[in-house]
Amino acid sequence: MKVKDGIIGLIIGDTLGVPVEFTSREALKEDPVTDMRGYGTYNMPPGTWSDDSALAIATMASIVNKQAIDYEDMMKEFVAWMKDGKYMQYHDTFDCGITTASGIYNYINGIEPINCGETSERDNGNGSLMRILPLAFIPDIDYESIENVSGLTHGHIRSKISCVFYIEIARSMLENDLTINEHIDLASNKIKEYYKDSGELHHFNRIFNDNLNDEDTISSKGYVIATFESVIYSLKTTDNYRDAVLRAVNLGRDTDTVAAICGGLAGIYYGYDAIPIDWIESIPKIDEVLELCERYEAYCDGCL
Ligand SMILES: [Mg+2]
Repeated sequence: MKVKDGIIGLIIGDTLGVPVEFTSREALKEDPVTDMRGYGTYNMPPGTWSDDSALAIATMASIVNKQAIDYEDMMKEFVAWMKDGKYMQYHDTFDCGITTASGIYNYINGIEPINCGETSERDNGNGSLMRILPLAFIPDIDYESIENVSGLTHGHIRSKISCVFYIEIARSMLENDLTINEHIDLASNKIKEYYKDSGELHHFNRIFNDNLNDEDTISSKGYVIATFESVIYSLKTTDNYRDAVLRAVNLGRDTDTVAAICGGLAGIYYGYDAIPIDWIESIPKIDEVLELCERYEAYCDGCL
């Protein structure tokens, strides 16, 4: 089952990163994350996921419930997450990003869902990229739908292109038996062609040109491009799921989101069986997510 490869991969990355979110790379070099930890930044027990997983799960739940991409319903689920802690293991929402909150409040205030995301250049955090993965499993998903789902909270074109680019890499991994570099090249060519008149492509040059080999030039902060570069760096410099997500976490700063986005691709690429089973079993309520993954996969199969 492909959905659980990616979604459990994402959730494990998130949970590994939560206890050390905002920790510097230097501090993590002294005390690297090598296994599931608890407490730390948010003082939550081991295996606690955050906004990244919750909003990806909310996205899947909405699509399963409506048997369609329904922007209005998706937004209602995001509101329930922010206000009531729905989709959080302890019904306690933490780690909500500023731009994400702003988009959700825009919806509460009556704005049309696909126009809720803020559109200034400063609103290009990684908050839509971290929750977009479920769309990769929908056969023939179109770019406009991906852009619109980003636009619920992140409406700037750079965030939208990042989401489409990420989904293209994931789709290539789902459809083709290639190396990581080949998957990225294939996706890059599609993005360069489709967005050639966007004026945005130069922001992605380091990913396009495979210029991500020096860790000192990789910033693992919350800016969507910095996050994306960190994810690709972590994938390219490792050869298994465990090392990929641990590399992402140990880059520091936005540890949970970088590792979640990395873990989604690493899960698809290496497969569910490559994810350490003791990590999966350490996550409260993971059975509910696995069950949702099954229902989501059935929806996706039905779209064929
Ligand atoms: Mg988070």
